[in-house]
Amino acid sequence: MSFTSGLKCRECGREYPEEALHVCEFCFGPLEVVYDYEKIKGAISRESIERGPRSIWRYKELLPASSDLDIGTGYTPLIKADNLAAELGLKELYLKNDTLNPTWSFKDRVVSVALAKAIELGYDTIACASTGNLANSVAAHAAKAGLKCYVFIPRDLEPGKIMASAVYGPNLVAVDGNYDDVNRLCSEVAGQYDWAFVNITIRPYYAEGSKTLGFETVEQLGWKVPDHVVIPVASGSMLTKIHKSFKEMHKVGLLDEEPNVRVSAAQAEGCNPVTTAFKNNTFNVKPVKPDTIAKSLAIGNPADGYYGLKVLEETGGSAEDASDEEIVEGIKLLARTEGIFAETAGGVTVACLKKLVETGKIDKDETTVAYITGGGLKTLEAVADDLGVTMVIEPTLEAFSSSLESVEARSQTIKVQGLATREI
Ligand SMILES: *Cc1c(COP(=O)(O)O)cnc(C)c1O
Ligand SMILES: [Zn+2]
Repeated sequence: MSFTSGLKCRECGREYPEEALHVCEFCFGPLEVVYDYEKIKGAISRESIERGPRSIWRYKELLPASSDLDIGTGYTPLIKADNLAAELGLKELYLKNDTLNPTWSFKDRVVSVALAKAIELGYDTIACASTGNLANSVAAHAAKAGLKCYVFIPRDLEPGKIMASAVYGPNLVAVDGNYDDVNRLCSEVAGQYDWAFVNITIRPYYAEGSKTLGFETVEQLGWKVPDHVVIPVASGSMLTKIHKSFKEMHKVGLLDEEPNVRVSAAQAEGCNPVTTAFKNNTFNVKPVKPDTIAKSLAIGNPADGYYGLKVLEETGGSAEDASDEEIVEGIKLLARTEGIFAETAGGVTVACLKKLVETGKIDKDETTVAYITGGGLKTLEAVADDLGVTMVIEPTLEAFSSSLESVEARSQTIKVQGLATREI
């Protein structure tokens, strides 16, 4: 049974068949999948979803493809982050830990849906333009599905992300340029070769995968929508789709009341076209040339920037950006308080969450969810200069004991100083 009825232009409303199309022929607006929400309402319930697989496919009625291609994407933990909440002064904070996906980032959600659709549409070759995580995920899914795969990346990508793509055996094309150059090239390649470019030619289907982040959050909160969500932004697609997911859940009868959620955006200072537009009170997103350690978010010309800003405005949310230093601090803060090791995008989210609380943009009483979208082992170089071992010793008990004494003495000193400061 199908719950979709084609594609529709987000701007002029013109309708299209459910094919590999992504822009409106008339106004160049982006195309979106159309669902029959009444039909879905009759087909699903909280209970039917709870009985479903422990993956994104428990929400298959609200996705534009149903699949046998399941590598275990989704249904990641929503962690109650009491330690980080206390440190930031928030009453109730949750972290959606998407570092635990099959290729250690949220991109598995969008790629699982895109690949399922590409197979349905009869493609034998999958391709993408990637800032790194997408490359990992497309290569892994293509391997599982037995499809040919071309992955285009900026040449200066982190070694961890290159290896985590190469291992699955794709054709890995390193381009001398930044992501926006790669993306432009891929649009031309897509015109020349009949391949399914997951984030270009079949983008409307791909983008829908991000909704599962919102669906799962609500289910894991006991079918409640949070008061505030903090979302990292590259193209802005995930932010708009998480917002859309809350509305859809209401439309199909999964919520008791209409969602009332504020959506806030997090970017790196070195690539902040969306947060800059927000702060300047304009919907006109001015492209930038990215220069940041958060390479997974380094899209200088974000395709969904405008729509993301609309969501911030509509929901009364806000936007912040973080410097490279603050990103590293954010990674360490998250690891130290909650035991989660995130990549630079996670550092961006935590650093911006902190700023949003400090500036009062997030109220201390708001139940807040922050999205941690990628794992730290892929961007080790970001923290390498900052971290090290506690002691280096000869393999003897004496050596350990005497080293331990000085280490403990040091922490003693720190504690005493802390107490003294507080007493004064
Ligand atoms: C791609 C990516 C994002 C943001 O995705 P958009 O939908 O393009 O805004 C966030 N976090 C990580 C780790 C990513 O790889
Ligand atoms: Zn149109």
